Amino acid sequence: MRKCWMALLLCCLLALTGCGARETQEAEDGRLQIVTTVFPAYDFARAAAGELADVRLLLPPGTESHSYEPTPADILAVQDCDLFVYLGGESDAWVETILSAADRQGTDLRMLDCVDLLEEETTEGMETEEHDHGPGDVVEMDEHVWTSPKNAAAITRAVGAALGQVDPAHGEDFTAGAEDYAGELEALDREFADFFASRPDGVLVFGDRFPLRYFAAEYGVEYYAAFPGCSTQTEPSAATVAFLTELVRDREVSTVWYIEFSNHLVADSIAEAAGAETAMFHTCHNVTQAEMDGGATYLSLMQGNLETLRAHF
Ligand SMILES: [Zn+2]
Repeated sequence: MRKCWMALLLCCLLALTGCGARETQEAEDGRLQIVTTVFPAYDFARAAAGELADVRLLLPPGTESHSYEPTPADILAVQDCDLFVYLGGESDAWVETILSAADRQGTDLRMLDCVDLLEEETTEGMETEEHDHGPGDVVEMDEHVWTSPKNAAAITRAVGAALGQVDPAHGEDFTAGAEDYAGELEALDREFADFFASRPDGVLVFGDRFPLRYFAAEYGVEYYAAFPGCSTQTEPSAATVAFLTELVRDREVSTVWYIEFSNHLVADSIAEAAGAETAMFHTCHNVTQAEMDGGATYLSLMQGNLETLRAHF
């Protein structure tokens, strides 16, 4: 249903604007136009492109990425841009409709193509849910690839390479910009690795969704959570709450974690019942307007997570 609507809208838009007639992909001043769907894509593109491109984030700051729907203006922006960086997962599945229907000249970069994928994982005590996917879908790959800083570095380098293909004259600048940022991300990766190596018995308990599969796998961290990564559920069963509460007590876990844009009611109730604290882990799906205005980057948000871990883990 949603696909039909999207295809219809696209036809109207293309008819109005003249399909294939818009060859001016670059803005008046000749700057490259990059369009991105989620905050990490925006951040990595910004780092690789530096001053050489305008980077646009479709997801408005402060909105939940899983409920985003593109506006007609967003669809036109994707049509017109030189480079489109998207996730390619469940949360931006709408992209495929645009890319397959559209007669566009620009280049696309799918973040899920840049790294090795991991399957979605369900841990003990976690709520599971029925997926409303087609019968062909057997294994679900986890889409939160950016949560590992090492993956973030790989994606940043891929963005730099894609920009070099779009604008070869500035290829070295894009490579240098991407390499600078990737180097910082890899330094942060080593800090996380050292941190978790110093706490081999640590366990992350999330009274929330857990979109940190890649992060946990990278550092070999044991974790439990109320819901899987992109779950739409918000009400855990009594059994889930009881399991997590007992785990926090038994393992003397000091902190129950919740994620950004969460009402943290589940984390609060587990923490209260078990006599623990709560803290927020920023999974970087999106940022608030205040974070955006304050110049937040993927790197700064993940550095913030490391500081919070140092105080609470
Ligand atoms: Zn997600």
